[in-house]
Amino acid sequence: MTMPRAIYPGSFDPITYGHIDIVRRARKLFPKLIIAIVANPNKQAFFSVQEREQITRDALAEMGIDDVEVTSYTGLLIDCAHKLEASAVVRGLRANSDFDYEFQMALTNRDLDSEIETVLFMTAGKYSFLSSSIVKEVKRFGGDIASFVPKSVDDALTRKLADQ
Ligand code: ADP
Repeated sequence: MTMPRAIYPGSFDPITYGHIDIVRRARKLFPKLIIAIVANPNKQAFFSVQEREQITRDALAEMGIDDVEVTSYTGLLIDCAHKLEASAVVRGLRANSDFDYEFQMALTNRDLDSEIETVLFMTAGKYSFLSSSIVKEVKRFGGDIASFVPKSVDDALTRKLADQ
């Protein structure tokens, strides 16, 4: 049996140690993992999709993860999964608050294609409060985000905020 390819979709605006924790866990089950960054025109992101792709690649390289691909997509996740020949969707679960949304998404995607399975990985306790929004908020007000994101992400945030 060939191992299924999995995609890990999300905003990654920007990638944090929480996302990276999920990548590491998912890699144990799925040797082929592709991060798919959603370019959703209806959802205003802080970084452009090109910036998020680059930041994600740099962060993975900084963490010594060299076998995870990064791409982006618009439209339906299921269509992206088909295009990438992935049969599993990886998502991360933090506290209770993620559950309802993830459950709804997983069942909707299963309705659209019953062959694609969603697999949820529980985060490490220390990242269970961590989100891209919190990171941006702390950084904007001058706080130290070194324990939340790799240095390359911190630097990208510094540059972006200086440009504004
Ligand atoms: P989205 O807008 O699709 O929720 P995110 O980039 O915020 O995109 O999150 C992508 C996935 O990563 C989601 O499944 C989310 O629950 C998960 N995730 C985000 N932060 C963490 C974290 N700190 N620990 C575990 N999973 C996380």
